[in-house]
Amino acid sequence: MKFFVEEFRVSTSSRFEVVDITSRVESAVAKSGVRNGLCLVFVPHATAAIIANEAEPGLMQDYIDLIKELFKPDAPWRHNRIDDNAHAHLASAVIGPSRVFPVIDGRCMRGTWQNIMLVEMDGPRSRRVIVEVIGE
Ligand code: ZN
Repeated sequence: MKFFVEEFRVSTSSRFEVVDITSRVESAVAKSGVRNGLCLVFVPHATAAIIANEAEPGLMQDYIDLIKELFKPDAPWRHNRIDDNAHAHLASAVIGPSRVFPVIDGRCMRGTWQNIMLVEMDGPRSRRVIVEVIGE
């Protein structure tokens, strides 16, 4: 049984941003030497999220528009009285801070239209991304 952890940082440059991190996750899986197992991609942040979907530029903007529509950054959320980012906490709570992928034959298994992306909802910030690969 192998256990491998890699951490990298993603610097975002605006309040809302979707960043494709697929190649960085895939290189961590390759480096792990795991042939068959699981790959966890996790952000230790309460105002960001991880998604697995198509990284087409228009759709990357659509994710942001949907998040704004659903979680309403300008609504009078109670948390905004102390910290002006309630929408980002709520969206992170619903979307989730992680995704898990099967590792099969040494590769992170995903569909053709499933890139791995970090969703920034309270940037700009430097975000930590943790990739943990376990298996044999
Ligand atoms: Zn907050």
